[in-house]
Amino acid sequence: MPAIVIPEHLRPADGRFGSGPSKVRPEQVARLQELGRTFLGTSHRQAPVRNLVRHIKEGMAELFGLPEGYEVVLGNGGASCLWDAATYRLVERRSQHLVFGEFSAKFAACARQAPWLEEPMVLEAPPGSRPEVVPTEDVDVYAFTHNETSTGVAMPIRRPPGPPAEAGGPLVVVDATSAAGGLAVDPREFDVYFFSPQKCFAADGGLWLALCSPAALERVERLHAGGRHAPAFLDLQLAVEQSRQDQTLNTPALATLVLLADQLDWLLANGGLPWAVDRCKRSAEILYSWAEASDFARPFVERPADRSPVVGTVDFVDAVDARTLAAVLRANGIVDTEPYRKLGRNQLRIAMFPAVDPEDVAALCAAINYVVGALSA
Ligand SMILES: *Cc1c(COP(=O)(O)O)cnc(C)c1O
Repeated sequence: MPAIVIPEHLRPADGRFGSGPSKVRPEQVARLQELGRTFLGTSHRQAPVRNLVRHIKEGMAELFGLPEGYEVVLGNGGASCLWDAATYRLVERRSQHLVFGEFSAKFAACARQAPWLEEPMVLEAPPGSRPEVVPTEDVDVYAFTHNETSTGVAMPIRRPPGPPAEAGGPLVVVDATSAAGGLAVDPREFDVYFFSPQKCFAADGGLWLALCSPAALERVERLHAGGRHAPAFLDLQLAVEQSRQDQTLNTPALATLVLLADQLDWLLANGGLPWAVDRCKRSAEILYSWAEASDFARPFVERPADRSPVVGTVDFVDAVDARTLAAVLRANGIVDTEPYRKLGRNQLRIAMFPAVDPEDVAALCAAINYVVGALSA
């Protein structure tokens, strides 16, 4: 790897651009330090931790403007658990999946591998684009991915036409892991919106949260009561009951809860979801307009409307080796710009979650220009 030193004035103030775990703000770590002797290392069944869990639930309800009757449910294991949990307690018979990258494909694979379900209806589009939903009477869950983290494609969350969920129609179940907190969403358009806190919420992994509509809660309860066996860890009904008590089924990482609560407070204090969405949009405009103007880079996602405002993917011309570029950036303290490993493109992937300063995205673009110049000199 060429020894290239990026001048100080061209470097972002914070060099973390990973898509998860992602940048944690220093103030969050300071909060952790503050609580180091009183909160950390205490029982999750006692008031201090349960109060924080309640604070997180209330904060989420406020951030997303959850309508009456919606509940915030949480548990251990990260968003990946929800793919499997959904096959036990959300899909009754058959689901429809929009597949446009690795994460949405894994969600569909979980449904396909569940022997108690019918073969799912899978609508697939090549990486960099997205499929359109096909409204159908024949499914009881629409499985969407708000932001496909592997490709940098985002889709709007809209309830397909058909019988409403509260009248027994299909549920809209959204993997919002990298979208939640950075992309606009109307909770009336989903029944389950699930995510992990190590992306827009700038915390650590290991936890999942799910915003659930009354129709989703009813489905979970009915499938639980109906005798379909589920491992306790994947039984959403148990998670719902625990969450109502401001607890989790088993021990959560307290540090993750603290980091998450601090980020949530920060987002709300700054103006909530509209503020976060606007900040991510600003970062994305900087990144994509730089790539479009560049003669060696361009946005991977063809349709501007599909380009994610939180995870940007940028292709490079053959003359610029993105792997070398990422390695040089890394040696200069600018980390995790490598593309999703299985995509196999000559590409960088840049996370622009709310914690990331738009000015740092601008600095990153300047730093890339500098490195490419130095590499071709
Ligand atoms: C990161 C991510 C996941 C996996 O989250 P874990 O916390 O590792 O389980 C799932 N879906 C999407 C869209 C993601 O970005």
